[in-house]
Formats: sequence, C-alpha cells, structure tokens
Amino acid sequence: MLRIDGLKLSCDNDSTLLREKAASVLRVPAQSFIDFHILRRSVDARGDVRIVYSVGVELSDEERVLRRCRSASVTRYAPEVYTLPARVRDGMPRPVVVGAGPAGLFCALVLSLCGAPPVLLERGQCVEQRTRDVARFWQTGELDTSSNVQFGEGGAGAFSDGKLNTGTRDVRHRFILEQLVSFGAPESILYDAKPHVGTDKLHITLRAMRARLLELGCDIRFGHHVVDITCKDSSLSSLTVRSAEGEYVLPCSHAVFALGHSARDTFYMLHGHGAAMERKAFSVGVRIEHRQSDIDAAQYKQYAGHPSLGAASYKLSCHLDSGRSVYSFCVCPGGTVVAAASEDGRLVTNGMSEYARDGENINGAILVNITPGDLPGDDVLAGVAFQRKLESDAFALGGGGYIAPAQLVGDFLDRRASSKAGSVTPTYRPAVRFCDLHDCLPSFVCGAISEALPIFERHIRGFACPGGRSQAKC
Ligand SMILES: Cc1cc2nc3c(=O)[nH]c(=O)nc-3n(C[C@H](O)[C@H](O)[C@H](O)COP(=O)(O)OP(=O)(O)OC[C@H]3O[C@@H](n4cnc5c(N)ncnc54)[C@H](O)[C@@H]3O)c2cc1C
Repeated sequence: MLRIDGLKLSCDNDSTLLREKAASVLRVPAQSFIDFHILRRSVDARGDVRIVYSVGVELSDEERVLRRCRSASVTRYAPEVYTLPARVRDGMPRPVVVGAGPAGLFCALVLSLCGAPPVLLERGQCVEQRTRDVARFWQTGELDTSSNVQFGEGGAGAFSDGKLNTGTRDVRHRFILEQLVSFGAPESILYDAKPHVGTDKLHITLRAMRARLLELGCDIRFGHHVVDITCKDSSLSSLTVRSAEGEYVLPCSHAVFALGHSARDTFYMLHGHGAAMERKAFSVGVRIEHRQSDIDAAQYKQYAGHPSLGAASYKLSCHLDSGRSVYSFCVCPGGTVVAAASEDGRLVTNGMSEYARDGENINGAILVNITPGDLPGDDVLAGVAFQRKLESDAFALGGGGYIAPAQLVGDFLDRRASSKAGSVTPTYRPAVRFCDLHDCLPSFVCGAISEALPIFERHIRGFACPGGRSQAKC
C-alpha cells in the first residue's frame, strides 16, 4: 500500500474529490485503485481553513508508481498490527481485574480473548443505573459516593467528551480504536486526528463491550468494592469485597488494580499494605466557559459554523518565568461543565459533550502544573491531601450542595468578586455561586492563571474577555 500525506480540500469540496486528488499525485487513473481509504483527517485553521487528509492506496504496481510519481508526500505504507499475547495455559488460576474504567475493561477484554476471562469487580454501577444516579446528583446535589461521574462502568471518562487522546505511540492504539468501533463507536475515530466519541455514543459502546465480555466468560460484578487485600508469603492470596449482599473474601493470586485517579480510599488501603508507590506530578485549575459561536468565529473566521468543520476547539499552553506551565486540557466543544465529585463535601468539576457537540457553550480546563516538590513532607500520598483540601475549600466557597464557585474572567483578572453571569450562561448543575475564586485556589495557581490568560488572548481573540466566565475545577 502507498500512503499520501497532505492532501488538502476546502470546506466546500465534496470528499469524493479526494480520490481524484490522490490519482493526480500518483499520476495514475483513480479506476486503477484496488483499495482506497482515509488514514488521517485534520483541520488546518491557519490562513484559509483547509481539511487535510492522509490516504492509503493499494495498487497492483506500487513500486513502479512510487518511482514514477516523484512526490515526497508519497511513501510505502504497511499498517502496524497488534498481535494478542499467547493463549493462557489451562489450569491457570482465574485472574481478577479491579475497576471497569478503560484500563480495566481493556485488560478484561484482552485476558478474555487470551482464554483467561477474569472476575471484573467494579465498585460503581452499570452504565444504565449510573446514568440515573448521576442525573439525580446533577438535579438535586445528592451524591452517591459509589455510583457517580468517577465510579461505575466506563470509569471516569464515561461522562466526558469521549476524546481518545494519548501522548504516547503504541502499536495497541489501532487495536483499541478498532475494538471501540466494533462495539458501536463512530468509524471516524479510526482516522480523525482528534477522535471523539461523545457521552451518548460512549454509553452505547460500553453496553456492547459488556455483552462481548460476558459472552467470552467474564464474571462482571457491579457494586462490588474491594476494601482490603490479604497477602501470604509476600504474595496476594485474597481480596475482601463489599457489596449490597454483604462482605465476602475472594481467593485470588493475580489481580490487576485499574483504579483510576479518584479511588483514594483504595490508594490508602494499598499503601497500608506496603504497595510500591511514588509521588507524581499533576495539575489543578479552573474550567473556563465561552460561547461556542465566539470560539468558532475566532478559529474558523468566515467558515465558522460550516457543517464540514463541526464545533471548533482550542489547545493553548505557555511556560511562565516562575517555572510554572499553564495549559488547556480536556476541551469540550458544544459541551457542559459537570459536577464530578466522588467524595462527600468535596467539589470537583469536569467537562462533557455529546457526539454532536451542539451545545451553546464550549468549556475547557485551564490547568497549572504541581510538581512533587510543591508538596510538604515526604508522605507519598501528600498529593491526595492537597487535592482534598482544595476540593473542600471549593465546596465551602460554593455554599454547599455541590454548588460550584464561579467568577467572570474580567473580575478574576481584576481580583474582584463577581455577582452575576455575563454574556455566557453557566451550564454547570445543580448551580453556580458567583464569588472570588482567589478565596479557594492557592495564590500560586491564581497568579499563574492570571499571567497566562492575557497570553492566551493573543492566540484566540476574546478568550480572556470580561464576559468569559471561569469556574473552580480541582
Ligand atoms: C469527567 C471526566 C472527563 C474526562 N474526559 C476525558 C476525555 O474526554 N478524554 C480523555 O482522554 N480523558 C478524559 N478524562 C480522563 C480519563 O477519564 C481517564 O484518563 C481514564 O478514565 C482513566 O482510565 P482508568 O481505567 O485508568 O481509570 P478510571 O476511568 O478512573 O476507572 C477506574 C475504575 O475503577 C473503579 N474502582 C476504583 N477503586 C475500586 C475498588 N476499590 N473496587 C472496585 N472498583 C474500583 C472505579 O469505580 C472506576 O470505575 C476525563 C476524566 C474525567 C473525570
């Protein structure tokens, strides 16, 4: 197969033109293509907005065509294929996977495909029940600490934009994307440079993935919370599991703990048993919300709102003289800011959007990096204590009931409490309370964000305008 990079179409071009463009680069008729498909699609919004494609073309005489076309954008292409590990020998003890987030689900899938279907223990509920629990929380502020935006089938990303981002290169990426498509995710994730599934389609995908795991012999137990472990001769011998039916001991010699970043009780439990752990860098900050139409206009100019482009996004970052980095993360075009707490009396916000990304606002996290050296003492879990304090302070500033503290960007920069919304209507539920975010965020976080916002304004006009609104996010 040959790969052609950098094929550009304007927003108004029909994508069928792509075959003709490819044929013209290769200097062969399009009818001679044995196979043709899109490998990558991205939007180039610099200057005139263009959609940029990489395509794969199969021909009968590729070597000759490659020599003759003399184009640097044409290369030989052989897709990397992930091979599953060898099948497990009969008689191996049944493994256990703790956590049904993306890591746990794919671990369970690969184990099952290799002939070792595990017991999959998830403290939260299946996605149908979880959706009801989360909706009640957003309406009433009544949190279920075991079934929420962090805990349950699909893990912490199940109520999100469903972006499939990773900073790593790994032969397993394609395998993961193909599996997701086979479970119902949109096919565009196979080639979009910024693939996204959306909360609505993600839930359909999760249900199909569960059905496949059950078919392969996986024993899935929702509402089963691992609260302790027992070791004999330095090896794992059992898990203590709490469920609605009571507590039980599950003998096990091999367990994968795919816990995510919010299972703090389990981190402390494992730490108490001497599990190896190390401090890691993380980031904290706020969620910032704009009208989607304003970001579309700033990014896509006269093409704003064009159906072939969809809702615009942004990616911003800067390094300050103080040594801090400030950057945007998990931007949710056409989405909402969501209450994402998993502990009583602690407030966390995040963002989500549906596949269509057709909401009125766009929101993104504006984050400041925290290094292990920022934390006091030598407790390996000092970062958890730091996060808990921040979340408790945000909860208190909101006045309770998971009402989020919020402030207009202009007021934040002027260090003045806000009293009401500006031109952007807050999407967060149950509600926001306008105040001064300096009253809950550490001063170095506020200082770094205040320095960064005017820098971001230079990249996206209107990003730090007085009508924009920022909201506490831990
Ligand atoms: C609201 C939100 C939106 C996000 N949006 C995006 C996005 O758009 N794109 C993106 O790439 N990333 C996003 N992320 C980050 C992404 O969710 C995480 O990177 C990803 O979920 C990590 O997967 P995981 O399987 O390691 O952990 P998790 O998804 O956190 O899953 C861990 C699971 O383990 C379970 N568990 C924990 N302890 C126990 C126990 N003791 N017993 C039994 N079960 C237990 C939990 O209930 C949970 O379901 C988002 C995160 C959040 C919170």
